[in-house]
Amino acid sequence: MQVPPFSLEKQILELQSEIENAVLKVIHSGKYIGGEEVQAFEKAFASYLDVPYLIGCNSGTDALILALRALDIGPGDEVITPSFSFFATAEAISNVGAKPVFVEVDQNNYLINYQQIRNVITSATKAIMPVHLFGCPADMEQLLCIAKEYNLKVIEDCAQAAGARWKGKAVGSWGDIGCFSFFPTKNLGAAGDGGAVSTHDSALARRMKELAVHGMPERYLHTELGYNSRLDAIQAAILNVKLPKLDYWIKKRTEIANRYANMLKDFDDIEIPVFAEYSNFVHSWNQFVVRIKNFQLENSNFISDNMNIIRNNNLESSLHNSRSLLKLKLEEHGINTIIYYPKPIHLQPAYKELSYKIGSMPVTESLCDQVLSLPIFPEMRLDQQEYVVTILRKLYNL
Ligand SMILES: *Cc1c(COP(=O)(O)O)cnc(C)c1O
Repeated sequence: MQVPPFSLEKQILELQSEIENAVLKVIHSGKYIGGEEVQAFEKAFASYLDVPYLIGCNSGTDALILALRALDIGPGDEVITPSFSFFATAEAISNVGAKPVFVEVDQNNYLINYQQIRNVITSATKAIMPVHLFGCPADMEQLLCIAKEYNLKVIEDCAQAAGARWKGKAVGSWGDIGCFSFFPTKNLGAAGDGGAVSTHDSALARRMKELAVHGMPERYLHTELGYNSRLDAIQAAILNVKLPKLDYWIKKRTEIANRYANMLKDFDDIEIPVFAEYSNFVHSWNQFVVRIKNFQLENSNFISDNMNIIRNNNLESSLHNSRSLLKLKLEEHGINTIIYYPKPIHLQPAYKELSYKIGSMPVTESLCDQVLSLPIFPEMRLDQQEYVVTILRKLYNL
């Protein structure tokens, strides 16, 4: 059996005629930039999140940049963010000229460590950028409490968490600005790039809207340098078809995640994430990430069979890493997993001038060595999931 880490095949088949009609309607309208579909999506997603303002843009990365710019964050400013995230979170901070200040994540839920935030606040700190990583909502009350105490702005990176809720309130509706991505693998995915920013503040909303169109409040009047960052009409049309399904897809993902948690309970060497559960807590389960604490290879044939793959991919060190070894072994059985993320941001070559040392963030660094994302997508079948766990049992001799 083949189990992909993620698949859109069934979702697209189910929505095929609706999506095709929506796309064709845009094509025949001749209006490809802005227009009805974009307006309808902005309105619908704002209402879904329960925020008064939502503006579409070109990507999740642009959403973060627009948010930082709208809050006047730039050279000389510091923004606190976790090192355990996708690179774009920190990259956006650097690309507006500010400095990312990395903090550790919590052992249990892999989210920003609140205690550490206090330790790195300086007079240059302007904002905190939490990430609702893998779809798990961060404790926004604690975060807003710290932000208020030090007069900091909060920009939520909701790229993986559209539809996640903390105590009933959608992520992206807590902080000053919420940033979303509609990259195809996210829970609400377009057929290409797309993003959005959400806010309760009308002035911030106006500023982001202008920044997304060359800093242009009225035609050919440019009050500041902006970007070309619009949500395409075709992408908006597709998102309009998909948005009404989002909660159902999250429900399916949650069923799969709960089943994994249950099925993997007796694996001593596989740790599943633990998080606070409140009523109205909604984890959007964009990824189901486990920690591989240990995996021993009992079958030496495996090493010779895979030696070439390892050499060709320059993965020599994989032989000494339990997680990477298990990943290869699962691949042999047709199960494809992904590593989010193999290298912490503070140790990326692009940030070598920040001079973080190996060992400076032990939790994050150990997660990067141990995490493995098991296949999860709303249409994943029960027999596929059972197969994944059966193979894991076999590999662990359980
Ligand atoms: C995907 C992602 C982004 C960037 O979104 P794009 O739409 O790909 O630009 C930013 N932050 C996180 C945490 C992400 O997962």
